[in-house]
Amino acid sequence: MNKLLIATNNKGKIKEFQELLRELNVKLLTPTDINLALDVIEDGQTYAENASKKAIAFAKASGLISLADDSGLEVDALNGAPGLYSARYSPKPGADDENRRNYLIQNLSGKPRPWHAHFHATIAIARPSGDLQFAEGTCYGEIIPTERGAGGFGYDPIFFIPALGKTMAELEMEQKNQISHRALAIKNSFPILHSLYNSS
Ligand code: IMP
Repeated sequence: MNKLLIATNNKGKIKEFQELLRELNVKLLTPTDINLALDVIEDGQTYAENASKKAIAFAKASGLISLADDSGLEVDALNGAPGLYSARYSPKPGADDENRRNYLIQNLSGKPRPWHAHFHATIAIARPSGDLQFAEGTCYGEIIPTERGAGGFGYDPIFFIPALGKTMAELEMEQKNQISHRALAIKNSFPILHSLYNSS
């Protein structure tokens, strides 16, 4: 059976990818499944650069077609911050997701609401040869000052989707996987994946 390596160690993302890629007829592997511990430094200037670095590093080390995403939250009132730095957005050493959410709210307090924001995801799919292809997705909403919901990860409890009247953390994974930035990027990557596996 064809194999695809999900090139991330983020448990929240792995769960989503496993669900999103279920209909693809390939065996999904994680770095843990193949005992591959790689810490790729995300020092690119764009989502595409960071996603490429991760996908290529894992594809070359494993010999498997590898899929990586780089994603982030962009808040209009903060000129697009935290953006590329979403995973590291806190002055506190050893900060966790909750610290980052609190820091974001702190930086927004005093600014007029609604705090419009969107999540962006760029997916890179690499072959061991280094060939690369990309797909993207965006999800629009707004940041709210009080956390709601226990699902998802990262900024989900403060990312509100007006059309649904819920935060991302209040959605079932199935619902998040219909509208999220990563879901849309994966949907857009299906033609690439189909052609890769049909030609290999
Ligand atoms: P990276 O793509 O590994 O650099 O991490 C992106 C960061 O953006 C994550 O660590 C989260 O903080 C945030 N992020 C990306 N996607 C989501 C999402 O679906 N929900 C909540 N936060 C997200």
